[in-house]
Amino acid sequence: MWRAIAAVNPLMHWRGSARRHGLKVSACLLCVLLGVSTKSVASIEIYFIDVEGGQSTLIVTPAHHSLLIDTGWAGDGSGFQPGDPHTARDANRILAAARDAGVTAIDYLLLTHFHIDHAGGVPELSQLMPIRTFIAHSAPSADAERTSPGTQAAYEAYLAAASHGVRLQPDPGQRLPLTDLEAIVVSSGGSTLKSPLAGAGTVNRSCPEHAAAPRDLYENPRSTGLVVRYGRFRFLDVGDLTGQPLYDLACPKSLVGAVDVYLVAHHGGPDVAIAETFAAFRPRVAVMNNGVSKGGARNTFDALHRLPLEDVWQLHASAEAGDANYQPARIANLDTSTAYWIKLVANEDGSFRVQNPRTGESRSYPPRPR
Ligand SMILES: [Zn+2]
Repeated sequence: MWRAIAAVNPLMHWRGSARRHGLKVSACLLCVLLGVSTKSVASIEIYFIDVEGGQSTLIVTPAHHSLLIDTGWAGDGSGFQPGDPHTARDANRILAAARDAGVTAIDYLLLTHFHIDHAGGVPELSQLMPIRTFIAHSAPSADAERTSPGTQAAYEAYLAAASHGVRLQPDPGQRLPLTDLEAIVVSSGGSTLKSPLAGAGTVNRSCPEHAAAPRDLYENPRSTGLVVRYGRFRFLDVGDLTGQPLYDLACPKSLVGAVDVYLVAHHGGPDVAIAETFAAFRPRVAVMNNGVSKGGARNTFDALHRLPLEDVWQLHASAEAGDANYQPARIANLDTSTAYWIKLVANEDGSFRVQNPRTGESRSYPPRPR
């Protein structure tokens, strides 16, 4: 069962979503009968928003429900200093992506964890657009605050914003209350799935005896991770999950199974160049939400180059990666003077397309062979 933190029953909210979905279907049926075209097509959209080495990923369902994973930084990105929402860098980038997608409210906000590059934008974004349901794990530890100042303040700001909506605390294995795609929690608060997802569970022959050490011992390994399934399409976002919980998703069996698209954990930092995770998730395409000098570590690029990937897309050129960066057509921002997102559109048959608005180029990927 979901742990509802607010007075509102999440099941009632889920039923409310279903009613909205039903209304949408009825409206579209009317459109078809009248011969009116509608933007509602059978696909989902994923915007990987540039928040300069933090995370913010907007997922829009076919019925136009919205799931935002993380909110980037507060203010101008220097520490946790929320200010005027109209000048807040990342909250306005999220708003721009939402407008592009035709979304006027965030139905579900999931925070992977409370570090300020993920949770910092909550107070400002909540003043720019309605956020209905807030999903995150429990309070960060004192050690998390000691090693990453601002984490506790970001958590308290999250509680204040969430007091205006429904607040849920996830457990691995639960499905978010979205009706027209499956979003399944695979990790949260340091725990992971206890058994493989449907179709997963293959023994992973790349597993070493122990997990690789995480750079951060406290909040990153507690990241709430998700698999999004839409028809045959699979997308994995584990936030900054590193260390033992990331190992547990991959070893000794792959609990997640093969995915089409993997948002490389921890911004592609130096502690995620881990062969057993790529062997477990078998991504066709990797996306890296790195900044110029945050994430995008050279050793992780080198690991990606050794894999049989169809593509890697980057939010930024990485200064550290040098000639290991992928070709400019696969990079949304070559420096900090621009803030383009990467947009992905996925279909039920498992095919998808990735677009780079900076260049206007896109690439289509057919469904994974059965
Ligand atoms: Zn991060």
